[in-house]
Amino acid sequence: MKAQTNAGAKQSATIPPTDLNPRSDAPLDFPDRELGELSAKDYDELGFLCGLEVHQQLLTRTKLFCRCPAGRRVRAVDAEVLRHMRPTLSELGEYDGCALMEFKTRKEIIYQLSRSCVCTYEMDDTPPFEIDEEAVRIALEIALLFDQNLVSELHVMRKQYLDGSIPTGFQRTAMVGLGGTIPFRDSELGGDRLLRIRQLSLEEDSCREVSDIGHTIRFRTDRLGMPLIETVTEPDLLTPGDVRAGMELLAAVARSSGKVRRGPGAARQDVNVSIAGSRRVEIKGVSSGRLLPALVHNEAYRHLNLLRIKAELERRGVTPDVFSLPAKGMPWELTNLVVDAHAAVRHSAYDPVQAALADGDTVCAIKLPGFGGLLAHPTQPQIPFAQELAERVRVIACLTSRPFLVSFDVEPMSLGSATWRHVRLALHAQDEDAILVVWGPPQDAATAAREILLRAQEALVGVPSETRQARSDATTGFERILPGPERMYPDTDTPPLPIPDAWIEAIELRERPWDRVARYEALGLSKPMAGRLPAAPWADLFDELVPWQESPGQLALGDDAVRLAHAFEKRIPRAWRVHGRRFLPGAERLRAMLQAGIEPSAIEFVLDELLREDADVDAVLERHRRRDVAVDALIDAERPEGLSDEACLRWAMGVALSKVPRGAVDPLEVRARVIERFGLVGVR
Ligand SMILES: [Zn+2]
Repeated sequence: MKAQTNAGAKQSATIPPTDLNPRSDAPLDFPDRELGELSAKDYDELGFLCGLEVHQQLLTRTKLFCRCPAGRRVRAVDAEVLRHMRPTLSELGEYDGCALMEFKTRKEIIYQLSRSCVCTYEMDDTPPFEIDEEAVRIALEIALLFDQNLVSELHVMRKQYLDGSIPTGFQRTAMVGLGGTIPFRDSELGGDRLLRIRQLSLEEDSCREVSDIGHTIRFRTDRLGMPLIETVTEPDLLTPGDVRAGMELLAAVARSSGKVRRGPGAARQDVNVSIAGSRRVEIKGVSSGRLLPALVHNEAYRHLNLLRIKAELERRGVTPDVFSLPAKGMPWELTNLVVDAHAAVRHSAYDPVQAALADGDTVCAIKLPGFGGLLAHPTQPQIPFAQELAERVRVIACLTSRPFLVSFDVEPMSLGSATWRHVRLALHAQDEDAILVVWGPPQDAATAAREILLRAQEALVGVPSETRQARSDATTGFERILPGPERMYPDTDTPPLPIPDAWIEAIELRERPWDRVARYEALGLSKPMAGRLPAAPWADLFDELVPWQESPGQLALGDDAVRLAHAFEKRIPRAWRVHGRRFLPGAERLRAMLQAGIEPSAIEFVLDELLREDADVDAVLERHRRRDVAVDALIDAERPEGLSDEACLRWAMGVALSKVPRGAVDPLEVRARVIERFGLVGVR
């Protein structure tokens, strides 16, 4: 099978200006600090800049370019398809760096198919159907929520995607909206800031990766082709806290349409980070906002450390041309920086090397002139620079059986001092040079040696353009070289789609999140509570019960919207935990509660009962109805000895209220009578 493309993607020697941080003064002397120890002013000094790309699946019945159902997550697999990727030359006769990298990995790609949600379109055997109208309408609506300029015609483009996660080798994508600004009230910088949106596109989702072992990667295709929107911001996020607040804001705007998917994997973020003197690095697939601040903080310091290494190399007079290699051939035949190291390591007691020799692996030693000591320089918490080399080798040479590489800087004890001496001699290396040993099958060892030299060369650039994967400890690992800027080209299979005016006119724009928060604040909710409520699953239920436009006085609770919001926040999650089901009663049931004149202090208890699916509303309300109760009769006990006034109050209230159902009496009235009866002068 083929998977090729005539992409005009050219790997330009010049870095696109948008990728460079606008400031070139690397703050090399900036102190090393933890997240939380830096102020907004400090991040400004670092030149910290972040932008977001938020991917959000849309709630449609079908996929974007075929009529397969959307939103299925399958476990059973009916068939598997095997593919190889290979790059094709662009018109300029150049390979895209990213595409070339994927080719170098020599991966076998296996797609797992389920009859229930995949057809021949996803597998690139039939051309696309018409674009799904429902998805286009939702995307237009969300673009309007972002206050964007809408395109008048939809032009489907192909975006090159050669990691195998899309069988065609490209993703179909269409620009829907451009520009737009939204109020950014939760910025750590305070004030009335704005977050600028660059663009919003409608795209098809890629496959889910199931496993990636050695030269074989497996994908499941249920998610493939599902419609999603990609919202890209300008680099307006200036602190780690801002990045998280920005992400939550974008998610809230999309959610406010009520037409996006929720749950695991439905929303995924890419975040672009740079600091003064560095260039944009993209961290992919961040699914948790919680991790985001630490992640971008650590990434900023990785940039700073790489810039420090670059400065030190320049001081030592190292130049990039030293590491250049002809494109073809085994590295150890082409340069004296790489030598066959079988003889040098033969007597080492180091187990991984002994195992490699026994397996017939190629073992080679590499010299990085002028790098002595720098491989141990930390780039991330507990991670030395050597790891940047190792990751390249792992991803591109697919050497996954660890360890496959050892360096004198980081692990001087590994091979033993005699062996290191032999390696150094074989390489004619001096003290100021770094030396490494790498092993694997001959082809992989050759790729590994080439990648190590390439990465060393890039150390003189400072921060290479790449995409990185977020790890759960808030560090990142190399994923791939950042694709060239021109990997988009028109899709010849789909005609342009003029957007009918009627579609735009039919959009009933929902309330935007910041307007909703302002409305809740006007109802008397505290700022934090008003901020939390729009994202709560019961927000719409709350709105049904607390009409916000007119009909004042309709509710017995009157101003007690606050009490209701509080009761929801406190009791609903608890009920869901206890019952093991996420059940929300209809608005009618709760309206009956609000109109029944229930004692406000009993609302939470009544709510608890109504959060059961089998609750008999009338019976519940009758039980908790306010009654004529002789309060004095509830306080007939004698005061026990030795109780303080405070303790006596609590005891007497407990005794009295336990004699009647919740809501039957006003607890404040009982309290007043208890104080009077026992003469509790000291309580407030
Ligand atoms: Zn399909």
